[in-house]
Amino acid sequence: MSKQVVFHIGGWSSCGFYSKASNVLASLSILFPSRLKVVDHKYGSRDEYRSWLIGTSGSGFRDTFGISKASNQTSSPFAWIESSDGGNSFVGGCDDTLAWCKDFCAPKEEGGEEKAVHVDDGHTKGHGYDYDLVVIGGGSGGMAASKEAAKFGAKVAVLDFVKPSPAGSTWGLGGTCVNVGCIPKKLMHNAALIGEILSSDTEPFGFTAPQALEKGHSWEKMREAVQNHIRGLNFNYRVTLREKEVTYLNKLGKFVDAHTLSLTDKKGKVSQITSSRFIIATGGRPSPLNCEGGELAISSDDIFSLEQNPGKTLCVGASYIALECAGFLAGIGVDTEVAVRSILLRGFDREIADKIGAHMEDHGVKFRKGVVPAKLEKNGEGKIEVTFSDGTKDVYDTVFAAIGRSADTGKLGVENINLKVNERNGKIPTKFEQTSVPNVYAIGDVMEGCPELTPVAIQAGRHLARRLFDGSTTPMDYKNICTTVFTPMEFGTVGYNEEDAKEKFGCGSYEVYHSSFNPLEWSLSEHRGKHPAFAKVIVNKDTDAVLGIHYLGPHAGEVTQGFGVAMKKGVTYNDLLDTVGIHPTSAEVLTDLTVSKSSGKSADAKGC
Ligand code: FAD
Ligand code: NDP
Repeated sequence: MSKQVVFHIGGWSSCGFYSKASNVLASLSILFPSRLKVVDHKYGSRDEYRSWLIGTSGSGFRDTFGISKASNQTSSPFAWIESSDGGNSFVGGCDDTLAWCKDFCAPKEEGGEEKAVHVDDGHTKGHGYDYDLVVIGGGSGGMAASKEAAKFGAKVAVLDFVKPSPAGSTWGLGGTCVNVGCIPKKLMHNAALIGEILSSDTEPFGFTAPQALEKGHSWEKMREAVQNHIRGLNFNYRVTLREKEVTYLNKLGKFVDAHTLSLTDKKGKVSQITSSRFIIATGGRPSPLNCEGGELAISSDDIFSLEQNPGKTLCVGASYIALECAGFLAGIGVDTEVAVRSILLRGFDREIADKIGAHMEDHGVKFRKGVVPAKLEKNGEGKIEVTFSDGTKDVYDTVFAAIGRSADTGKLGVENINLKVNERNGKIPTKFEQTSVPNVYAIGDVMEGCPELTPVAIQAGRHLARRLFDGSTTPMDYKNICTTVFTPMEFGTVGYNEEDAKEKFGCGSYEVYHSSFNPLEWSLSEHRGKHPAFAKVIVNKDTDAVLGIHYLGPHAGEVTQGFGVAMKKGVTYNDLLDTVGIHPTSAEVLTDLTVSKSSGKSADAKGC
């Protein structure tokens, strides 16, 4: 049985928001006494309430949380949840309390899972349209959804059409991941890792300077091998669609009405198809560099298919794409600089992001911090002169912009069906992947709130197809999704980082266990020790639940995947310690993290 929640709410008696939230809570505690206890902190007047909440500077009740969100709250009500060790986690005001109540009451399937129920979309067996389902976009999500729907006997078509990048790059079937994302990126990252092994690790292991290094790196060879591999994948995708009886249309789709699409092919020929249901899986495209001469920059749509080595390169942006690309470029010997607007890897654990930066800097990546390009100009030699926001200038062969991605909904005709789209980023809001137009669904990068990751798009697509054509009610679970940043030192992560844990649960409610260690395979190579690998687990002190697992070191993706399963199953810190490690691996460190940050002891691991 789940533990009883002790929910506190403070406010002043005639405040309407406080009354509304405390009344809803009181009703729930009557209905579910074993699950919810409410402690009401009611003040007679606004002044009394504010003197309790705010006090004189820094002395109010809200300041005991040590969370900026709580410290900024001045209005009534003020709500929090008590933990058994006396710590508190901040909930918020009236809206946050009502959202919490809604979640508390949300229907749960056996095993505690939420059910995904769609608004009736009018689909019937004898609907009379050309297709049961048309999927717009044949990337990771669209391919998965179309094949899964066909498995249940649905008549399905998938459209995939690549609009050329501003620099003119195009590619085949399969979307971003296969053509201009995960696959070429990981292969080029691997090229850099091979280079590092050749230049640093061969001698202590008994090999002498190999011929490979003397010849240097050939961009052309790497590019050709990578592009051939991609072409093979494009071909396989076509074959699988045919095998699964999904109709593939290499055409650009645009809504005419909620059941009709106009299709334009490469030659500009226009036709129409109708369908009972649609899934929008059009993904996103790189945001253009928004400064004078920004059109001279290339993006991730272009870099992996460049005919020649990019030469001296400026990477603009400091998140996944910019740092991964800067990492592999420097690793294969390209003179690489990164223009960082603010911080590296926003949203990731700060301590680890800083370690990644320091490692990259030592591996030849230069960082130009606190600047953005203000102007790009071609000089007489065909190179690009960049003027930065601080007035400094430099000249590059290539400027590569990775400053975020926008949803690809601009030419989809959403206005023709009154489909709600977020004006800021073009993303489509949904509930259980159903949009504001009931027979139109959205998955993957184009969907608001969806982490922009291939496996997320695939999983969401499969779940949706099962719900639409096989009677499933299982929702896509967007929580605790693991991911890896393929910087030269790889970083795998799942769950809360330290900053988010502090913000959500408050100081003192969690413990951090950490270790800096030297992976065995690095231990013979002198240069490796300077930047040890690192592991960090964040644990809820009250429940022992693991809130986040972070690993910086070799094979981070492989290491993190299994811990992702553990997180999904609600792993506790003691479960980790009870797990027998595999020796001698780097992953075993996560089963033996005993040094807590609060102890002040060094995280440097000793011995075997
Ligand atoms: P997409 O794969 O983008 O597919 C959308 C498709 O729809 C495209 O082919 C597009 O041409 C087509 N389309 C658009 N509009 C229309 C239309 N009107 N009609 C017909 N077709 C249309 N994720 C990871 O998990 N791991 C990684 O290591 C990783 N690395 C990445 C590296 C880079 C450089 C980039 C850019 C992304 C990376 N990602 C990674 C993210 C991942 O590629 C995306 O999250 C994933 O591809 C999203 O899939 P999707 O199906 O939503 O869209
Ligand atoms: P993000 O949105 O994650 O980051 C954008 C970066 O560009 C930030 O560093 C941001 O800085 C900076 N930036 C934004 N606007 C400007 C500007 N005008 N001038 C200069 N810098 C700017 O985008 P990415 O393109 O890196 O990645 C998109 C998504 O693709 C990721 O969220 C991820 O989900 C997916 N992806 C996944 C990978 C993986 O799984 N390994 C690899 C690559 C991509 P600031 O912090 O200041 O806002």
